[in-house]
Amino acid sequence: MTAVTFEQVSKDWGTAIALHPSDLSLQAGQFSVLLGPSGCGKTTTLRLIAGLEAASAGRISIFGQDVTNVPPSHRGVSMVFQNYALFPHLSVAENIVFGLKVRGVARSTIEERLKKSLDLLSLTPYQARKPGQLSGGQQQRVALARALVGDAKLCLMDEPLSNLDAQLRQEMRHELRVLQQELGLSVVYVTHDQTEAMSMADRVVLLKSGRIEQVATPYEIYQSPGSLFVAQFIGSSRMNILTLEAGRIAGTDIALDAPRQAVCVGIRPEDIRLGGPYSMSVSHTEFTGADLMLHAQAGSQTIVVRAEGAQVVRAQTEILLGWDASRLHWFDESGLRI
Ligand code: ATP
Repeated sequence: MTAVTFEQVSKDWGTAIALHPSDLSLQAGQFSVLLGPSGCGKTTTLRLIAGLEAASAGRISIFGQDVTNVPPSHRGVSMVFQNYALFPHLSVAENIVFGLKVRGVARSTIEERLKKSLDLLSLTPYQARKPGQLSGGQQQRVALARALVGDAKLCLMDEPLSNLDAQLRQEMRHELRVLQQELGLSVVYVTHDQTEAMSMADRVVLLKSGRIEQVATPYEIYQSPGSLFVAQFIGSSRMNILTLEAGRIAGTDIALDAPRQAVCVGIRPEDIRLGGPYSMSVSHTEFTGADLMLHAQAGSQTIVVRAEGAQVVRAQTEILLGWDASRLHWFDESGLRI
């Protein structure tokens, strides 16, 4: 079953094209993440699904039903925003059930669902408090409870954790993922943080300048990035991209078994090992605790190497480096993976 389908959907603001004509298919029961740099069209895509923006062209379906011209309130989706959007003068419980009351849902159903969602998000002790009397993490839980209380099958989230501190964000990522799996929810989640996307997603949709660059599982997108852009966007330390010249790393005598069309080779810092056939000089090092990042010179190009933090390597010394040929990524002139 497909939760969301785009058929040649586009959004042209007049001043900017937020989404070029795109096809997309997101599976039901999955956690799908829209990922990409600022301005690439993530929020617009989410708002098109919600019906908060009208598509300039194309067809949008939710669970197989064409919703292109259906207003947001009839699309059966719930939303969680970055700023929580809670009413400050209403209590936690009142905030959670606000939408149900507006829709005229029976009182007994409201009470039952409220109890369930307070329970699910560990908010029962806070139900009488106002949002101003809660921590950021608790406020975010209220926003989530409000999204879940309506029993919508599709939940849309726009950077819901970005206002939280790093540790709380990590905890909430885990909680959210567990909740999504327990409830079998279909989630579409927007973030610009690749770590968040990689750690939470069943499927990552990577956007660049209003175009879908790649749709894949976190494993596939890391192992086989489809383009130079994806290769450098995914991964906690940026992939090294080195220019080739006549089958060698340009400016060096390091010969590689490069495919004929390859103009550059990519290798991740974590795929380079100390010890190996290639001698390079270290220009500087960065110690991060678990890792020691080495910046080595291959001709005029820099290669970053992720070594163990316990290693002792000093700047301005020569080191030997090596890699497994299967860890190399090849790209052609148009930046596509070979
Ligand atoms: P961010 O991560 O910064 O929130 P994003 O990937 O969510 O960015 P969008 O907000 O979808 O990007 O914006 C995509 C493009 O559409 C941008 O060029 C933006 O300036 C433009 N845009 C967004 N909303 C509007 C609007 N209401 N009117 C005109 N242009 C808009």
